[in-house]
Amino acid sequence: MTIVSPAAQTAPITSQDPVALAKARTSAAAMLADDNGQPHHWRVIVTDTESPTGFAPACRASTSDDVHMIADFHGGPIRDEYGVYDCCPWPQVETFSEPFAAYVVALLNADQGPTGGAW
Ligand SMILES: [Zn+2]
Repeated sequence: MTIVSPAAQTAPITSQDPVALAKARTSAAAMLADDNGQPHHWRVIVTDTESPTGFAPACRASTSDDVHMIADFHGGPIRDEYGVYDCCPWPQVETFSEPFAAYVVALLNADQGPTGGAW
C-alpha cells in the first residue's frame, strides 16, 4: 500500500518504511487534533446504516447525563454510546464495515500515545 503524505507530496510513503510511516502519523495527528490542538479520543459511531460502522472523535458533551440518551428505550432510558447528535464533533466517517470502523478507531487511539486522547 502506498500513502502520499500531505506534508510531503513529492515522494510516496510505503507502509514498509517505518520512518516515513511515523512522519505520516505525526502529520495526521496534527490534522486530526481538536480546535485547541489536543488529541481526540476516537469512538465507533452509528450513522444512517444503524450499525456501528462509522467513527468520529468522542463527544465531550456525552459525559453529561442529559445528552446522548435514548429516552424511549423499551427498558427505560439508556445512554446512547454509539449515537451521533448535534453536539458531536466532526469528522464523522462512515466505513460500511463494523470491523474496519473498530480497526480505524483502535489505530487512531493508539496514535494518541499512552495518555493522549484520554479525557
Ligand atoms: Zn455529542
